[in-house]
Amino acid sequence: MTTTSETATAAATFEVRNPGTGDVVGTYPVQTESDAAAAVERARTAFEWWSGLGYAARAERLARFAGVLTRRTNQLAAVVHDETGKPHSDGALEVGLSLGHLAWAGKNARKVLGRKRAGVGLLTFNQAASVEYKPLGVVGVIGPWNYPVFTPLGSIVYALAAGNAVVFKPSEFSPGVGRWLVDMFGEVVPEHPVLQLLTGDGSTGAALCRSGVDKIAFTGSTATAKRVMAVCAESLTPMVAECGGKDVLLVDEDADVDAAVGAALWAGMANAGQSCIGTERVYVHGHVYDEFLEKLVAQAKVVRAGTDSGARIGPITMPKQVDVIRRHIQDAVARGGRALTGGADEISGQLVQPTVLVDVPEDAPAVTDETFGPTLTVAKVADMDEAIERANAGRYGLSAAVYSKSRGRELADRLRTGMVGVNAVFNFPQIPSLPFGGVADSGFGRIHGPDGLREFTFAHAMARQRFAPLMALTTFDRTAETDTKVAKVMTMLYGRRHWD
Ligand code: NDP
Repeated sequence: MTTTSETATAAATFEVRNPGTGDVVGTYPVQTESDAAAAVERARTAFEWWSGLGYAARAERLARFAGVLTRRTNQLAAVVHDETGKPHSDGALEVGLSLGHLAWAGKNARKVLGRKRAGVGLLTFNQAASVEYKPLGVVGVIGPWNYPVFTPLGSIVYALAAGNAVVFKPSEFSPGVGRWLVDMFGEVVPEHPVLQLLTGDGSTGAALCRSGVDKIAFTGSTATAKRVMAVCAESLTPMVAECGGKDVLLVDEDADVDAAVGAALWAGMANAGQSCIGTERVYVHGHVYDEFLEKLVAQAKVVRAGTDSGARIGPITMPKQVDVIRRHIQDAVARGGRALTGGADEISGQLVQPTVLVDVPEDAPAVTDETFGPTLTVAKVADMDEAIERANAGRYGLSAAVYSKSRGRELADRLRTGMVGVNAVFNFPQIPSLPFGGVADSGFGRIHGPDGLREFTFAHAMARQRFAPLMALTTFDRTAETDTKVAKVMTMLYGRRHWD
């Protein structure tokens, strides 16, 4: 980012460059605390209107937004390509995958959040109990650049469907995508600024956390999530933290090896490895290890990183990430690992060629830390118990994949991750009814699915007395006789000792 302050009074701005060509593709203001506060104030009025529209009208607007995204996919994919360097078709795929979420969130919000009866007990049978999930108000969304459409929309769409207004602060590497999304949403919801944009760097994100929003939906690295959480703690602002990962792919002895190879290659190298749910570690059963590795390396040699239209993967978007990737590879090799294809010498500028590493010790950063580049470590295991143990030893717990013909479900069940694909990769985010999120250093809270809708609401419980109780408990007129009766009922209900 280049920040310029031409005069004492002019607002600071930053330039966005195409990581493949270095061309400047946009200049945006670095917005400040007062900008964030003003946006949130506008959002409060917008929220009153938007939440009052009701589920059906909101669903209709979200469907219209999906229509705009569908018809202008190429336009948006071009902005994604310019800002992130990813191939145009990958940008278009990302847009396409977002559409199902728009439709699902709008269609299912009432069913998930609307008021529903809750059960009552023997002592409360005179009550009618119900719960509804009400929108929080204004949600601040802080997004990353790696999937600048799909990832922030995962929060934005669900927050909007639940009835919130949103202020969106995209990454400083992808503000143009944020601008595009906010402008297009404004076309289908012109009445009020229900979705607003804030541009800038980390300081702008921090300003949004301090602006009085009712919740922050953060997607980014674990380190930044900790900083965001510290700021949110000052005002007890709740947050969702969708953070990084170090995802594994397990290959069992009875796996379809060709399918597992294709999956590892794609999940590891697509988007130049810059996927939170991308595979970074592969554990392969000893019986199929040699076959798997030989095929993987052969295919990885064919996938090329470049900036021309024939390249299957683009450049690394953030220049400083190249240093992390190089460091992980060099460290792995220094500890006895081998790069069977790619390697540190195959890094040129922001282009990193697909790299397959073997014989890397389990405590090397290439195995323990998020690399966020087109690299895979591949290790042989004696059995799948060892694979599970190694997989669960990491500090992250975002997602995983298992390839096995007979034990897929069983192995998947034992993985301590928020999401897992069986005999497929990247399948769960395509299913809008499934929650998306992780555990441990991968964060907490969920987007997508019913959990993703509830994440942007608060539970509003109501108990309505239908008729006077047989025994009045909540009164100073309660008698000793009532106390005795209550004790008897309690003993009857809960006092039996089945375990004797
Ligand atoms: P960062 O953590 O660097 O940034 C994420 C966002 O936070 C950006 O918008 C950034 O703004 C903003 N930010 C930075 N500092 C602050 C601060 N002090 N207060 C508030 N906001 C701040 O992550 P990246 O953008 O590099 O994204 C890559 C990371 O995101 C990876 O770790 C990846 O695994 C993770 N990710 C997780 C996903 C998930 O769903 N679990 C999905 C996609 C990515 P700016 O860019 O302007 O500095």
